[in-house]
Amino acid sequence: MRWQGQQLGSTDAAALPGLEHLSGFVQSVTTPEFAGTTFHEVLCKSALNRVPGASAMPFDWTVNPYRGCTHACSYCFARATHEYLELDAGRDFDSQIVVKVNVAEVLRRELARGTWQHDPVMLGTNTDPYQRAEGRYRLMPGIVSALTDSGTPFSILTKGTLLRRDLPLLAEASASVDVSIAMSIAVFDDPLQNAIEPGTPTASARLQTVRAATDAGFRVTVFLMPILPHLTDSVPAIDDALRRIKDAGAVRVVYGALHLRPGAKQWFLRWLERDRPDLVSSYRGLYPGVSATAPKAYRSWLAKRVRPLLRAHGLDGHDEDSPPHRNPGRATAATVVTTSRGRTARSAGAAMLF
Ligand code: SF4
Repeated sequence: MRWQGQQLGSTDAAALPGLEHLSGFVQSVTTPEFAGTTFHEVLCKSALNRVPGASAMPFDWTVNPYRGCTHACSYCFARATHEYLELDAGRDFDSQIVVKVNVAEVLRRELARGTWQHDPVMLGTNTDPYQRAEGRYRLMPGIVSALTDSGTPFSILTKGTLLRRDLPLLAEASASVDVSIAMSIAVFDDPLQNAIEPGTPTASARLQTVRAATDAGFRVTVFLMPILPHLTDSVPAIDDALRRIKDAGAVRVVYGALHLRPGAKQWFLRWLERDRPDLVSSYRGLYPGVSATAPKAYRSWLAKRVRPLLRAHGLDGHDEDSPPHRNPGRATAATVVTTSRGRTARSAGAAMLF
């Protein structure tokens, strides 16, 4: 890969194609604790990423401490971003993790600028901030403190149970800024979850984290996404998921059908061919050619199936396509998450959801 051989703190825009803002490679690290994974530590020049105006994402700013994700979801659409690093969107995305070791310090500097408008910041929109690497690098406490100290509201979306470690800090932060927490749980069947998201904690472990966050005072949203055609879209499967979500104390559910974007599509279909060849032709029919979204007819059918189950379980919820409130500027995937302090903040779909 291109950044091999760089020196500590050196700046070489050509070293990380597409990541010119990163200031330099530090070192590559492997440890027995993370067998099969290599961490590439870099110094970044900027931490706040402005979402392009033309993006469908309903928020303006993100912070992503990691690139690549050991949660290894076969449907993850952030996979394609690894190709900018001359790594592949498959196994490398799961095992070659770029770590912005100075992200909190840089963020704090950026938030102190007089021009900062204190717009909500989203964490978890590209890769998971509470993936396993966070146990080693502990970047999130610094990020949370920087946001809180600057008076910036923020939202966290994760599949990681490591979130529990930071709940006391997050609860403290919510006394001065709006903090919203969302947990992504797509697959409630353990063998299927293990096959399709091999690096993620089980649904039960994530639900226990939802319970812990609820007990810490947060009104937690669960993203029941992506719902996988023919795999997790049966009435019993959805009913069981919603029952368990309700029992865990979550107050809201956002659901949506699988997206298969470039990078993810190839990887997901490879998994399907290996594990569920009987479904390959159905998926090719639902996602023909370069089509990334399930047909409208399927999404409508799914909504008709989920809505009565949400009502039956007494859960607030909506389809990712039909958020209850929209930001007129950029709204297509928007939802509104009630924060710990009862106000609202924008939240959204992200790579890890689809
Ligand atoms: S979908 Fe989210 S949790 Fe899964 S690999 Fe992608 S970034 Fe990680």
